[in-house]
Amino acid sequence: MTARVIAIDGPAGSGKSTVAMALAKRLNWSFLDTGAMYRAVTAEALDKGIPVTDDDALSIIAAIANIETIPRVLINGRDVTEIIRLPEINRAVSAVASIPAVREQMVQRQRQFAEDQPVGTVVEGRDISTVVFPTATLKVYLDADIGERAKRRGVENELEIASRDMADSTRAASPLKQDPDAVFINTTAMTVDEVVEAIASCLN
Ligand code: C5P
Repeated sequence: MTARVIAIDGPAGSGKSTVAMALAKRLNWSFLDTGAMYRAVTAEALDKGIPVTDDDALSIIAAIANIETIPRVLINGRDVTEIIRLPEINRAVSAVASIPAVREQMVQRQRQFAEDQPVGTVVEGRDISTVVFPTATLKVYLDADIGERAKRRGVENELEIASRDMADSTRAASPLKQDPDAVFINTTAMTVDEVVEAIASCLN
């Protein structure tokens, strides 16, 4: 792999998306929200009435769907930017993301995306440092207290966040975990600018 990547992992509400987007802007790099990809596949399944436990059907969707995340989130041409943030998607997405064949498809697309970018990509998710880009230029793991994370998420309460984190970190396929090489940042009491600054300073 030749692409330059900053990998940012962490649980829901740790600040990954906001920080990754701001960092990408500051560096003039591209940005990839991999959670949006799993959410888009979930939205497509729910739209087609496919149960999230139907591994085979979900794997087919993941294999053939056309998915874009920038500037809007589209699956097979349908704009799901707002839909993917709904509570029903929050509740269903971890099940979809636990299917190994779905993950393989997403990982392939994420690697290709990074290869196609002119300078570099800030990629955020759960398995970016550990699986998708194990040789990333820089690896970062963000976390924050559960109360603060729930406050940031807004639509999800502490219990819902904790149950999604539990599902994401205990699944067999590419669970959420901190890579040994990742820089750990607790963002509870930090502003977005402070976190971006802390990450950028690791690049020097
Ligand atoms: O980051 P976000 O909350 O949008 O991610 C939604 C869900 O997608 C996560 O709860 C997780 O189940 C899944 N996900 C994943 N691997 C990634 C990114 C997200 O399994 N790299």
